Amino acid sequence: MPETTNLDVVIVGAGFSGLYMMHKMRGLGFSARVYEAGSGVGGTWYWNRYPGARVDIESQEYSYSFSPELEDEWVWSERYAAQPELLKYLNHVADRFDLRRDIQFETRITAAVFDEASGRWTVSTNTGEVISARFCVMAIGCLSVTKDVDLPGAETYLGHAYHTGHWPHEGVDFTGQSVGVIGTGSSAIQSIPQIAKQAAHLTVFQRTPNFSVPAHNGPADPEIAARWKANRAELREQARRSAGGFLSMDTSEALAVEATPEERQQTFEARWAQGGFCMGAAFADITVDLTANAYAVEFVAGKIREIVKDPEVAEKLIPKTYPFGTKRLCVDTGYHATYNRPNVTLVDLKETPIETITPTGLRTSAKDYAFDSIVYAIGFDAMTGPLGRIDIRGRGGMALRDKWTAGPRTYLGLMSAGFPNLFMVTGPGSPSVLSNMVTSIEQHVDWISDCVTWLTNHQQGVIEATVEAEDAWVDHVNETANTTLYVKANSWYLGANIPGKPRVFLPYVGGVGVYRVKCEEVAAKGYEGFALSPATA
Ligand code: FAD
Ligand code: NAP
Repeated sequence: MPETTNLDVVIVGAGFSGLYMMHKMRGLGFSARVYEAGSGVGGTWYWNRYPGARVDIESQEYSYSFSPELEDEWVWSERYAAQPELLKYLNHVADRFDLRRDIQFETRITAAVFDEASGRWTVSTNTGEVISARFCVMAIGCLSVTKDVDLPGAETYLGHAYHTGHWPHEGVDFTGQSVGVIGTGSSAIQSIPQIAKQAAHLTVFQRTPNFSVPAHNGPADPEIAARWKANRAELREQARRSAGGFLSMDTSEALAVEATPEERQQTFEARWAQGGFCMGAAFADITVDLTANAYAVEFVAGKIREIVKDPEVAEKLIPKTYPFGTKRLCVDTGYHATYNRPNVTLVDLKETPIETITPTGLRTSAKDYAFDSIVYAIGFDAMTGPLGRIDIRGRGGMALRDKWTAGPRTYLGLMSAGFPNLFMVTGPGSPSVLSNMVTSIEQHVDWISDCVTWLTNHQQGVIEATVEAEDAWVDHVNETANTTLYVKANSWYLGANIPGKPRVFLPYVGGVGVYRVKCEEVAAKGYEGFALSPATA
């Protein structure tokens, strides 16, 4: 029998969530340890090393706010940091707060079983270790399980095949190669312009075009950084109370349907020139009113027609089957202009679907293509995927994946009834992927930390979401989503990208600020909606 490691808190994952969770737990005097499948810290920014990978929210906002000293000493080089700088930042955080001594790398958590007699979790690893912990925190990410290649013949391909979500650490040199990229989501839209610069020829296979807005990235402006520093505490607090968890989104109260055509054009132009997500928040009714949304669609379509010289290619790149902003907006650097290059071809899979991957490339209904390399930019089994990969068993041996067959059920996206003392950071039912994730991560880690401290101070050993509170929250999450246009897109927010996944809107669309108040109220009322009981052992 392997020796059991006893902890107060076991933390799974060493990305933004796990690192901050570890720092908090240690500071509060709990014994804690992080288990991470990868060989380094960084999570998303450890795995996604494809060319062009960078943040879609301005770096000074997509960073921790918990330590003013950390904020003072770290200077971002670009408005939107690239993956290597984000990874360097997270390594710096791990070193600065001396976190590595409590992180175990190359260790995957395979099972977590709740023991009702002791009120503790028994957690198993792929290396045969066993950990017993009072609390279990799943800091495993929303986008950490890549979608499997679901195309026939993929295993027969003899060239180089890559998935953007687990890119080789040594990088890939496409110089002189014929390359095929499958997918046109954010990962593809970031990598296509970079791959096109290297490859002899690049063929992009698009099933559904995406809305993409320019980042207008560049060196970080020292004046903006200084202004940010001077007012940081206030700005961070505003971001925490905002709809998306960041201020550069610049949310507007104005309605597109009430604006004149000139006002709409002026607003859209200004935001397009500003760059980034502010385009999606140009008017308050864009995500709830189809008429308002159509104005945004029309504006973006006009931009694509302006940029892309071949009118046929431009038409193919214009999304026409779902409303603007109902999938996470892509923020790009030169994406549409890349199709003006003589070495880039766009293949519309709606016209000529892929029939099979072949040993030399792939075959569509129209022709055979030969490639030295195929890049699968096909996305992730989002939000529920990482939790579903672990055999999590709560009261009565109930498996979480069985409880969630028809879709995830949580209270506040933090806990699920029947799974006491098991917390999820940015779990389904919380704003998470609809927000600046670092703001949402910090909020969850702080809430969980306050909760376990409160339980300890009040001699309570076990906390568990009640079925009633969970049912009411799930209804609220669904009702809120149904008032928006988000449910009209076949997005990964709805699980639509994974065959067989139930169609349920996964994140909470009510807004980061509103959600934060709800979580604060629940805690202030002695954890309303949760059942509490004293420690049994
Ligand atoms: P992750 O960073 O995903 O870390 C989770 C860690 O848990 C991983 O390292 C994983 O290996 C580990 N893990 C999972 N399961 C197990 C297990 N069973 N055992 C052991 N370890 C396990 N969000 C934004 O707000 N803005 C952005 O610009 C942005 N860009 C993104 C770009 C890409 C390419 C992707 C994929 C996501 C992006 N996101 C972005 C979302 C991003 O995931 C979050 O911003 C944030 O990095 C999540 O941090 P995390 O620690 O919660 O999860
Ligand atoms: P994604 O948005 O799910 O895009 C996957 C793409 O692959 C889609 O175009 C999809 O087409 C296509 N696809 C999937 N399976 C296919 C198949 N069998 N045949 C042909 N095409 C197929 O995944 P992603 O681009 O990795 O992005 C996921 C999320 O990660 C983003 O939404 C964002 O939240 C985050 N992200 C952020 C950034 C950033 O800018 N910082 C960068 C990358 C990722 P369909 O649409 O037709 O299914």
